[in-house]
Amino acid sequence: MEAIVTRGLTKYYGNILALNELDLKIEKGRCVGFLGPNGAGKTTTIKILCSLIQPTKGEAYVNGHDAVKEPAKALRNVGAMVETPEFYSYLTPSEMLSYLGRLRSIAVTDLRTRINKVLEIVKLSEWASTRISKFSRGMKQRLGIAQALLHDPPVMILDEPSLGLDPRGMYEIREIIKEAVKEGKTIFLASHMLREIQEVADSVALINKGKLLAYDRIEKLENFFRATKIHVQLLQPIPQGKLAKIEKLDHVKAVTAEEKSLTVSFDGTETEQAELLSSLVKDLEVPVVSFKPSLEALEEIYLKLIKEGN
Ligand code: ATP
Repeated sequence: MEAIVTRGLTKYYGNILALNELDLKIEKGRCVGFLGPNGAGKTTTIKILCSLIQPTKGEAYVNGHDAVKEPAKALRNVGAMVETPEFYSYLTPSEMLSYLGRLRSIAVTDLRTRINKVLEIVKLSEWASTRISKFSRGMKQRLGIAQALLHDPPVMILDEPSLGLDPRGMYEIREIIKEAVKEGKTIFLASHMLREIQEVADSVALINKGKLLAYDRIEKLENFFRATKIHVQLLQPIPQGKLAKIEKLDHVKAVTAEEKSLTVSFDGTETEQAELLSSLVKDLEVPVVSFKPSLEALEEIYLKLIKEGN
């Protein structure tokens, strides 16, 4: 059984289409990054999964429980931090978590142990009795994760957990997520920051304008979109006519030229790269000084997909 499933998930806000037939399946124990630019539909998806809003159409399940039809059961299986968490600032973490624990019907006998445990996980044990009003943004984000972990849910959904944090704060959040993954929890992590996702997730679901553009393991995505960029250094600039001839060579998708260099977008194998080099030097008499292939990084794939989706 999957930890998260959405089928044909669609959401309109008035006449704004925020989610467009989103199909997603996340296996248990995976850490999946939900990546997309602002307004892509990430928060909307998360809010539906957390039963905070209803979809216009389609279904959403958490650990097999329908988030629309059986929200209480679905919610028992998920811990979430949606947008920047706000707490009663006059309370201490201990008081806040105790209040939330009672709201979530955690047995009184277990509650104290759970509170100590989650505060330890997010490294706030020393601050358990300090008022939240004294907390930095990073500490509040960590407390947000602590409340998501309180009822020990198998699935965690985090919406931009590092938003507005400095590098140290981001690092701390990443470490907490990595620990949760090690413990076997399923993590669904929305972010518009590719770096953050690459650091912790094993897979990425790319979304733009409410539509899923791609969803796979990070390394598979990179392989799938593999397009080699070959940087060719020249002894002297080449005439325009030669450039057109290069563009017609096998497996060449595009060529851009600067004064004494070329960038060739190429989708052939290594042997075909060797043939390309040979054609450049022998047939077209291009004065090649160096020939350096490099792989397109996930970042370029992301930007390209978003551009194509527009
Ligand atoms: P961000 O990273 O900016 O939060 P997001 O990927 O989470 O973006 P959503 O917040 O889900 O995107 O928004 C998707 C679309 O729905 C956007 O066009 C947004 O303007 C619109 N939208 C979101 N919430 C509402 C609302 N309550 N009323 C009207 N439109 C909304």
